Amino acid sequence: MSWTAAATKVCALLALAAALGWYYGQPLWAVAGTLLLLVGFWLYQMKRVQRWLRNPGEPPPETYGIWGDILSEIYQLQKKGREARDRLQSTVDYLQDSFSSMRDGVAIVDDHGLLKWFNEPAQSLLSLRPADKGQSLMNLVRAPEFLRYFNLGDFRKPLEYRTAGDSGAWLRVEITRFGDGDRLLFIRDITASVRMEKVRKDFVANVSHELRTPLTVISGYLGTFLSDTSRLDPRYIKPLQQMLQQAVRMENLLKDLLWLSRIESEQGMEVHTPVDIRSLLTELQDELRTAHPERKLELELATDHKVMGDYRELYSAVSNLVLNAIRYSVDNTVVNVSWSRRDGGYHLAVSDRGIGIDAAHIPRLTERFYRVEDSRSPASGGTGLGLAIVKHVAASHGARLKIESKLGKGSTFSLVFPGQGRGINPGDSPDAAAQPGEHLTARG
Ligand code: ADP
Repeated sequence: MSWTAAATKVCALLALAAALGWYYGQPLWAVAGTLLLLVGFWLYQMKRVQRWLRNPGEPPPETYGIWGDILSEIYQLQKKGREARDRLQSTVDYLQDSFSSMRDGVAIVDDHGLLKWFNEPAQSLLSLRPADKGQSLMNLVRAPEFLRYFNLGDFRKPLEYRTAGDSGAWLRVEITRFGDGDRLLFIRDITASVRMEKVRKDFVANVSHELRTPLTVISGYLGTFLSDTSRLDPRYIKPLQQMLQQAVRMENLLKDLLWLSRIESEQGMEVHTPVDIRSLLTELQDELRTAHPERKLELELATDHKVMGDYRELYSAVSNLVLNAIRYSVDNTVVNVSWSRRDGGYHLAVSDRGIGIDAAHIPRLTERFYRVEDSRSPASGGTGLGLAIVKHVAASHGARLKIESKLGKGSTFSLVFPGQGRGINPGDSPDAAAQPGEHLTARG
């Protein structure tokens, strides 16, 4: 029944009461009495509806008129709500089932850091108990690396850490935010792959180490033979020279392999010595002046920002870039090295006007032993490991390697250090964009 029909019905009833009252000479009393009866009836209906609403499990009571309609609409709404809730619950059950059956650990933490839910693998990986639901994750997982990572809130990269205790398992944790500040944690046991990786690194390091001594002996004797070619049969001179060239190449390769495995094994360890990039570059310039007196190295030192890190690693990265710039450009061109602040970061850029690199090769240059076809000749003296070393050093110093190059025109390799965090600026006003008076250009 519609509202207007109900109102018409009430009006008709009151009119009838007024007419009857008129007939008996008491119209007002008749209307008032009818109104009172109506109010009483409505109050009674309301009471039944209210009682039913408080016990929604029971079937709806028998009601009349507009109250019957209201009740049936409430009933329909309730039914729809129940169906939607059941559907939602079955989706949640389905998702929880699929998470539970995963071999990786999954846990949900709310915005206050309280554990809302976790599956069995998460329980054993993080050493939790079923009763820990609702507890603070921070109080349950004590690993300092985990606490730092979780509190920092920067989850762009996953965390890999070793758990304490006898087992010393390696865990990889990935965290994603969702909903209202909730966090979804994926935890994977990576102990086996970490062990394999260690075996591989140790193998490379051991083989490189073991091969160094025999190679030194071979190249030593070859050098001795070739130091006085007048006493050699001329037929042997060229082969001996080639042997020496290859032996030296192998020595360089082993040196780079050993250095790379050392950097890899030290990655992730705290580095906290301020490195003065200005003096590092000046030292490199002096060294190159001796090793390559024919080449010109121009330095542009526009900031005295110091980088927190390892001097030897940074030195090897920059010297690899500079040696490449020399190696892959013609003899009389200048190589430029600049140290400046730009776009909120600190850029150490090495530019040459050499052969350049086709854009197709750029994404693969930092792979071990990847070399552009033209530069494979032994005469280039490269090992194919230089940029892999640079990439590792960059990563362990929170920097990234940026490569810009144009075929036939030249290349710029830049180590971009973050503007905040791992550096030190003596008397640093948020500056450091090159102060005019500080601009220093040195020539090598
Ligand atoms: P390599 O020991 O061969 O130089 P790297 O890892 O240092 O190995 O470099 C990988 C490849 O990238 C090189 O073989 C070369 O083809 C290319 N490359 C690196 N630096 C430059 C450069 N400045 N100009 C042109 N090509 C370069």
